[in-house]
Amino acid sequence: MNIIFFGAPGAGKGTQAEIVSTKLNIPTISTGAIIREAIKVGTDMGKEAQSFIEKGKLVPDEVVIGIIKDRLGKDDCKGGFILDGFPRTIPQAEALDRMGVKIDVVLELYVSDEDIVTRMSGRRVCPKCGATYHTKFNPSTAGENCDKCGEMLSIRKDDAPDVVKSRLVVYHNETEPLKDYYSSKGLLKTVVGQEELSDTTRLTLEALGI
Ligand code: AMP
Repeated sequence: MNIIFFGAPGAGKGTQAEIVSTKLNIPTISTGAIIREAIKVGTDMGKEAQSFIEKGKLVPDEVVIGIIKDRLGKDDCKGGFILDGFPRTIPQAEALDRMGVKIDVVLELYVSDEDIVTRMSGRRVCPKCGATYHTKFNPSTAGENCDKCGEMLSIRKDDAPDVVKSRLVVYHNETEPLKDYYSSKGLLKTVVGQEELSDTTRLTLEALGI
């Protein structure tokens, strides 16, 4: 199954994608995670992307399209994949179509802007293994440390409240038009994010029919 997880930053796409990925045994491809790793390692692409990410802006289409082209060409994508955070613009979606990639379902996770701002303030990430947590909705059992590798958790720079607000503006202007794009193809399904993570997961699995 080839799935796109769609929704505002902080709506919980990454968390649900990870659950579905384990259940279906298919990889999750997160352009955000690939870019953050490139920044950490200091590649040319990472250097180019850094200033965009830190301001809450989108990285140029040609950069992320290149990332996706490379990644989808790998063997582990042959049995299906989840895209988390791609496409984020109409030209990116058109590029995906031109690559001949067949999408089975686009799952929108809807959370209001007000709730997004509250949620983002509790988001924590592991700088070593990339695991994500939320102080209230999905806490690490190791407290301020990562459950998976023990590293001290940190707050993403682009989760600062003023950057979150810019990211929401970008989402509404540039990414939301994709709802019409995919709904006209009959691919869009919407799940409303719930207070309890397990409720959102149940609705997500139901919507995907798995
Ligand atoms: P995410 O982890 O998906 O929230 O992405 C973090 C940041 O990476 C975004 O705010 C953008 O700056 C950049 N980014 C990730 N995916 C894309 C994309 N498909 N198009 C443009 N920029 C992206």
